[in-house]
Amino acid sequence: MSFVPPDHPRFLSLMYRERLVEKFKEGVVVAQGLIAHGRGEAFDYILGEQTIPPALEAEKAAAALLKLARKPVISVNGNAAALVPGELVELSKALNAPLEVNLFYRSEERAKRIAELLKAHGAEEVLWRPDQELPGLSSERRRVSSKGIASADVVLVSLEDGDRTEALKRNGKKVIAIDLNPFSRTSLTADITIVDNVIRAIPNITKFVKAMSEREAEEALERFDNARNLREVVKWIKKWLDAKTSELL
Ligand code: ATP
Repeated sequence: MSFVPPDHPRFLSLMYRERLVEKFKEGVVVAQGLIAHGRGEAFDYILGEQTIPPALEAEKAAAALLKLARKPVISVNGNAAALVPGELVELSKALNAPLEVNLFYRSEERAKRIAELLKAHGAEEVLWRPDQELPGLSSERRRVSSKGIASADVVLVSLEDGDRTEALKRNGKKVIAIDLNPFSRTSLTADITIVDNVIRAIPNITKFVKAMSEREAEEALERFDNARNLREVVKWIKKWLDAKTSELL
Protein backbone atom coordinates (compact mmCIF):
# COMPACT_ATOMS: atom_id res chain seq x y z
CA MET A 1 0.00 0.00 0.00
CA SER A 2 1.31 3.45 -0.91
CA PHE A 3 0.81 6.50 1.29
CA VAL A 4 1.77 8.86 -1.55
CA PRO A 5 -1.23 10.56 -3.23
CA PRO A 6 -0.72 10.91 -7.03
CA ASP A 7 -1.43 14.67 -6.87
CA HIS A 8 1.41 15.25 -4.40
CA PRO A 9 3.83 17.84 -5.88
CA ARG A 10 6.78 15.56 -5.15
CA PHE A 11 5.03 12.39 -6.24
CA LEU A 12 7.82 10.99 -8.42
CA SER A 13 10.56 11.58 -5.90
CA LEU A 14 8.46 9.99 -3.15
CA MET A 15 7.60 7.01 -5.34
CA TYR A 16 11.27 6.35 -5.98
CA ARG A 17 11.82 6.43 -2.21
CA GLU A 18 9.02 3.89 -1.80
CA ARG A 19 10.62 1.68 -4.43
CA LEU A 20 13.98 1.81 -2.68
CA VAL A 21 12.38 0.90 0.65
CA GLU A 22 10.55 -2.01 -1.01
CA LYS A 23 13.80 -3.25 -2.56
CA PHE A 24 15.53 -2.77 0.78
CA LYS A 25 12.99 -5.12 2.35
CA GLU A 26 13.62 -7.62 -0.47
CA GLY A 27 17.38 -7.56 0.17
CA VAL A 28 18.36 -5.82 -3.08
CA VAL A 29 19.25 -2.46 -1.51
CA VAL A 30 21.29 -2.09 1.69
CA ALA A 31 20.52 0.46 4.44
CA GLN A 32 23.65 2.39 3.46
CA GLY A 33 22.21 2.66 -0.06
CA LEU A 34 19.19 4.50 1.35
CA ILE A 35 21.53 7.05 2.92
CA ALA A 36 23.51 7.42 -0.32
CA HIS A 37 20.23 8.08 -2.15
CA GLY A 38 19.48 10.88 0.32
CA ARG A 39 22.77 12.56 -0.52
CA GLY A 40 21.88 12.22 -4.20
CA GLU A 41 18.43 13.73 -3.61
CA ALA A 42 19.99 16.79 -1.97
CA PHE A 43 22.17 17.44 -5.03
CA ASP A 44 19.26 16.70 -7.35
CA TYR A 45 17.21 19.33 -5.51
CA ILE A 46 19.73 22.04 -6.27
CA LEU A 47 19.82 21.01 -9.93
CA GLY A 48 16.05 21.57 -10.05
CA GLU A 49 15.50 17.78 -10.47
CA GLN A 50 16.16 18.08 -14.18
CA THR A 51 18.81 17.14 -16.70
CA ILE A 52 20.77 20.35 -17.00
CA PRO A 53 22.43 21.14 -20.38
CA PRO A 54 25.99 20.12 -19.37
CA ALA A 55 24.64 16.79 -18.10
CA LEU A 56 22.95 16.18 -21.43
CA GLU A 57 26.23 16.92 -23.18
CA ALA A 58 28.00 14.41 -20.90
CA GLU A 59 25.28 11.83 -21.62
CA LYS A 60 25.90 12.28 -25.34
CA ALA A 61 29.65 11.87 -24.88
CA ALA A 62 29.03 8.79 -22.71
CA ALA A 63 26.84 7.24 -25.42
CA ALA A 64 29.59 7.98 -27.92
CA LEU A 65 32.33 6.39 -25.82
CA LEU A 66 30.18 3.31 -25.13
CA LYS A 67 29.31 2.98 -28.79
CA LEU A 68 32.93 3.22 -29.94
CA ALA A 69 34.23 0.93 -27.18
CA ARG A 70 35.77 -2.45 -27.98
CA LYS A 71 34.16 -4.04 -24.92
CA PRO A 72 31.82 -1.84 -22.87
CA VAL A 73 30.34 -3.07 -19.58
CA ILE A 74 27.56 -1.67 -17.39
CA SER A 75 28.32 -2.05 -13.70
CA VAL A 76 25.18 -2.36 -11.56
CA ASN A 77 24.74 -1.91 -7.82
CA GLY A 78 21.67 -2.34 -5.60
CA ASN A 79 20.30 1.21 -5.88
CA ALA A 80 20.65 1.34 -9.67
CA ALA A 81 18.96 -2.07 -10.00
CA ALA A 82 16.10 -0.92 -7.76
CA LEU A 83 15.60 2.42 -9.51
CA VAL A 84 16.07 1.60 -13.20
CA PRO A 85 16.11 -2.18 -13.81
CA GLY A 86 14.27 -2.11 -17.16
CA GLU A 87 16.20 0.93 -18.37
CA LEU A 88 19.53 -0.76 -17.61
CA VAL A 89 18.46 -3.81 -19.58
CA GLU A 90 17.43 -1.63 -22.52
CA LEU A 91 20.80 0.13 -22.54
CA SER A 92 22.61 -3.18 -22.32
CA LYS A 93 20.67 -4.47 -25.34
CA ALA A 94 21.19 -1.29 -27.36
CA LEU A 95 24.96 -1.61 -26.80
CA ASN A 96 25.16 -5.37 -26.81
CA ALA A 97 27.10 -4.94 -23.55
CA PRO A 98 26.82 -7.11 -20.44
CA LEU A 99 25.39 -6.02 -17.09
CA GLU A 100 27.72 -6.89 -14.22
CA VAL A 101 26.67 -6.83 -10.57
CA ASN A 102 29.37 -5.12 -8.52
CA LEU A 103 28.73 -4.38 -4.85
CA PHE A 104 30.52 -2.68 -1.99
CA TYR A 105 28.36 -4.55 0.57
CA ARG A 106 28.56 -7.83 -1.29
CA SER A 107 27.00 -11.12 -0.38
CA GLU A 108 26.39 -14.03 -2.72
CA GLU A 109 22.67 -13.89 -1.90
CA ARG A 110 22.34 -10.17 -2.62
CA ALA A 111 24.28 -10.36 -5.90
CA LYS A 112 22.00 -13.21 -7.00
CA ARG A 113 18.86 -11.25 -6.08
CA ILE A 114 20.02 -8.29 -8.17
CA ALA A 115 20.76 -10.57 -11.11
CA GLU A 116 17.29 -12.11 -10.77
CA LEU A 117 15.68 -8.67 -10.68
CA LEU A 118 17.47 -7.70 -13.90
CA LYS A 119 16.49 -10.99 -15.53
CA ALA A 120 12.86 -10.40 -14.54
CA HIS A 121 13.15 -7.16 -16.53
CA GLY A 122 14.37 -8.96 -19.63
CA ALA A 123 18.15 -9.27 -19.20
CA GLU A 124 19.51 -12.32 -20.97
CA GLU A 125 22.84 -12.55 -19.24
CA VAL A 126 23.89 -10.92 -16.02
CA LEU A 127 27.42 -11.39 -14.70
CA TRP A 128 27.16 -11.77 -10.95
CA ARG A 129 29.69 -14.49 -10.07
CA PRO A 130 33.12 -12.82 -10.04
CA ASP A 131 36.14 -14.96 -10.87
CA GLN A 132 38.92 -12.35 -10.77
CA GLU A 133 40.16 -9.46 -8.67
CA LEU A 134 40.86 -5.91 -9.73
CA PRO A 135 44.45 -5.20 -8.62
CA GLY A 136 44.97 -2.36 -6.14
CA LEU A 137 41.52 -2.41 -4.52
CA SER A 138 40.72 -3.98 -1.16
CA SER A 139 36.92 -3.57 -0.92
CA GLU A 140 34.48 -6.23 -2.11
CA ARG A 141 34.20 -4.21 -5.30
CA ARG A 142 37.56 -5.69 -6.34
CA ARG A 143 35.72 -8.89 -7.27
CA VAL A 144 35.02 -8.78 -11.01
CA SER A 145 34.15 -11.09 -13.85
CA SER A 146 36.66 -12.09 -16.53
CA LYS A 147 33.80 -11.86 -19.06
CA GLY A 148 32.93 -8.34 -17.92
CA ILE A 149 34.79 -5.60 -16.06
CA ALA A 150 38.13 -7.47 -16.00
CA SER A 151 38.39 -7.47 -19.79
CA ALA A 152 36.40 -4.28 -20.52
CA ASP A 153 37.88 -1.11 -21.99
CA VAL A 154 34.96 1.14 -20.95
CA VAL A 155 32.97 0.78 -17.72
CA LEU A 156 29.77 2.67 -16.91
CA VAL A 157 29.29 3.09 -13.16
CA SER A 158 26.68 4.82 -11.00
CA LEU A 159 26.50 5.64 -7.28
CA GLU A 160 30.12 4.71 -7.17
CA ASP A 161 32.86 5.05 -4.59
CA GLY A 162 35.99 6.91 -5.50
CA ASP A 163 38.28 4.00 -4.62
CA ARG A 164 36.98 1.76 -7.34
CA THR A 165 36.88 4.54 -9.91
CA GLU A 166 40.56 5.15 -9.21
CA ALA A 167 41.34 1.41 -9.35
CA LEU A 168 39.50 1.02 -12.67
CA LYS A 169 41.48 3.93 -14.10
CA ARG A 170 44.80 2.52 -12.83
CA ASN A 171 43.89 -0.70 -14.59
CA GLY A 172 43.59 1.10 -17.91
CA LYS A 173 39.79 1.36 -18.15
CA LYS A 174 37.89 4.42 -19.28
CA VAL A 175 35.25 5.25 -16.69
CA ILE A 176 31.89 6.91 -17.24
CA ALA A 177 30.32 7.88 -13.90
CA ILE A 178 26.75 8.92 -13.14
CA ASP A 179 26.97 10.89 -9.91
CA LEU A 180 24.78 13.75 -8.70
CA ASN A 181 27.66 15.11 -6.62
CA PRO A 182 30.04 16.99 -8.94
CA PHE A 183 32.64 17.22 -6.13
CA SER A 184 32.93 13.51 -5.27
CA ARG A 185 36.20 11.70 -5.91
CA THR A 186 34.34 9.59 -8.45
CA SER A 187 33.20 12.70 -10.36
CA LEU A 188 36.69 14.16 -10.32
CA THR A 189 38.38 10.91 -11.40
CA ALA A 190 36.07 9.66 -14.15
CA ASP A 191 36.78 10.28 -17.84
CA ILE A 192 33.17 11.31 -18.37
CA THR A 193 31.12 12.51 -15.39
CA ILE A 194 27.36 12.74 -15.75
CA VAL A 195 25.94 14.94 -13.00
CA ASP A 196 22.36 13.73 -13.27
CA ASN A 197 20.02 11.32 -11.56
CA VAL A 198 20.51 7.75 -12.77
CA ILE A 199 16.74 7.75 -13.36
CA ARG A 200 17.10 10.35 -16.12
CA ALA A 201 20.66 9.58 -17.22
CA ILE A 202 20.24 5.93 -18.29
CA PRO A 203 17.27 6.53 -20.67
CA ASN A 204 19.04 9.59 -22.11
CA ILE A 205 22.20 7.59 -22.84
CA THR A 206 20.13 4.84 -24.49
CA LYS A 207 18.37 7.39 -26.69
CA PHE A 208 21.73 8.77 -27.87
CA VAL A 209 23.18 5.29 -28.43
CA LYS A 210 20.25 4.42 -30.68
CA ALA A 211 20.24 7.70 -32.62
CA MET A 212 23.95 8.38 -33.07
CA SER A 213 26.07 7.40 -36.08
CA GLU A 214 29.72 6.42 -35.61
CA ARG A 215 30.82 9.70 -37.13
CA GLU A 216 28.60 11.68 -34.76
CA ALA A 217 29.99 9.66 -31.88
CA GLU A 218 33.57 10.53 -32.85
CA GLU A 219 32.66 14.21 -33.15
CA ALA A 220 30.86 14.25 -29.78
CA LEU A 221 33.91 12.74 -28.10
CA GLU A 222 36.29 15.19 -29.72
CA ARG A 223 34.24 18.13 -28.47
CA PHE A 224 33.91 16.85 -24.91
CA ASP A 225 36.12 18.08 -22.07
CA ASN A 226 35.24 16.64 -18.64
CA ALA A 227 36.84 19.37 -16.50
CA ARG A 228 35.11 22.07 -18.54
CA ASN A 229 31.81 20.19 -18.25
CA LEU A 230 32.12 19.93 -14.46
CA ARG A 231 32.80 23.67 -14.25
CA GLU A 232 29.61 24.26 -16.26
CA VAL A 233 27.66 22.07 -13.83
CA VAL A 234 28.92 24.08 -10.85
CA LYS A 235 28.01 27.32 -12.66
CA TRP A 236 24.45 25.97 -13.03
CA ILE A 237 24.28 25.16 -9.34
CA LYS A 238 25.53 28.66 -8.46
CA LYS A 239 22.92 30.18 -10.77
CA TRP A 240 20.18 28.13 -9.11
CA LEU A 241 21.37 29.17 -5.67
CA ASP A 242 21.47 32.84 -6.74
CA ALA A 243 17.89 32.60 -8.03
CA LYS A 244 16.75 30.98 -4.78
CA THR A 245 18.63 33.60 -2.76
CA SER A 246 16.83 36.43 -4.50
CA GLU A 247 13.50 34.76 -3.68
CA LEU A 248 14.44 35.20 -0.02
CA LEU A 249 14.96 38.95 -0.34
P1 ATP B 1 33.44 9.33 -3.44
O1 ATP B 1 34.14 8.17 -2.77
O2 ATP B 1 33.41 9.24 -4.92
O3 ATP B 1 33.85 10.72 -2.95
P2 ATP B 1 31.00 9.24 -1.83
O4 ATP B 1 31.64 8.65 -0.65
O5 ATP B 1 30.41 10.61 -1.77
O6 ATP B 1 31.92 9.20 -3.10
P3 ATP B 1 28.96 7.21 -1.92
O7 ATP B 1 28.20 7.63 -0.72
O8 ATP B 1 29.69 5.92 -1.96
O9 ATP B 1 29.90 8.33 -2.42
O10 ATP B 1 28.04 7.18 -3.22
C1 ATP B 1 26.92 7.85 -3.37
C2 ATP B 1 27.05 8.86 -4.50
O11 ATP B 1 26.02 8.61 -5.43
C3 ATP B 1 26.86 10.27 -3.94
O12 ATP B 1 27.77 11.15 -4.52
C4 ATP B 1 25.44 10.63 -4.40
O13 ATP B 1 25.33 12.00 -4.70
C5 ATP B 1 25.27 9.79 -5.65
N1 ATP B 1 23.87 9.40 -5.90
C6 ATP B 1 22.97 8.94 -5.02
N2 ATP B 1 21.79 8.66 -5.61
C7 ATP B 1 21.96 8.92 -6.92
C8 ATP B 1 21.12 8.81 -8.05
N3 ATP B 1 19.87 8.38 -7.97
N4 ATP B 1 21.64 9.16 -9.26
C9 ATP B 1 22.92 9.59 -9.36
N5 ATP B 1 23.77 9.71 -8.33
C10 ATP B 1 23.30 9.39 -7.12
